[in-house]
Amino acid sequence: MGSDCLFCRIVAGEIPATVVRETETTLAFRDIDPKAPVHVLVIPKEHYADVATLAQGDPALAADVLATSAAVAEDEGLLGDGFRLMFNTGGYGGQEVFHVHAHLLGGAPLGPMLARNLA
Ligand code: AMP
Repeated sequence: MGSDCLFCRIVAGEIPATVVRETETTLAFRDIDPKAPVHVLVIPKEHYADVATLAQGDPALAADVLATSAAVAEDEGLLGDGFRLMFNTGGYGGQEVFHVHAHLLGGAPLGPMLARNLA
């Protein structure tokens, strides 16, 4: 994908990010606009638009994203109290950046998963 994709540019080192963990295939960095005391984004370095495309195209890489997410959760001290791991996907899912990313959220009670305001 490359220059048009914000997260590919972070992988390439063209845009700064606060990286908390890097593996051969994945990168984890702090969200620029955190919604919880811990808010880390975990991405595959290779470009996939969303979690469905990733899971269908490279299940092993999807597993790498989960493994890195779990490692960051442990590093951040979240395993005891719990955390939320979330993939916003597509328009209804509220996805804004179309390079698949897991939101790892924790450090405080996160409340209900959704407000009950849907029709
Ligand atoms: P989503 O709505 O699921 O696509 O989430 C995109 C996330 O990327 C949001 O939580 C943004 O705050 C975050 N974000 C956008 N730009 C950056 C950036 N340069 N560095 C870190 N996080 C970012």
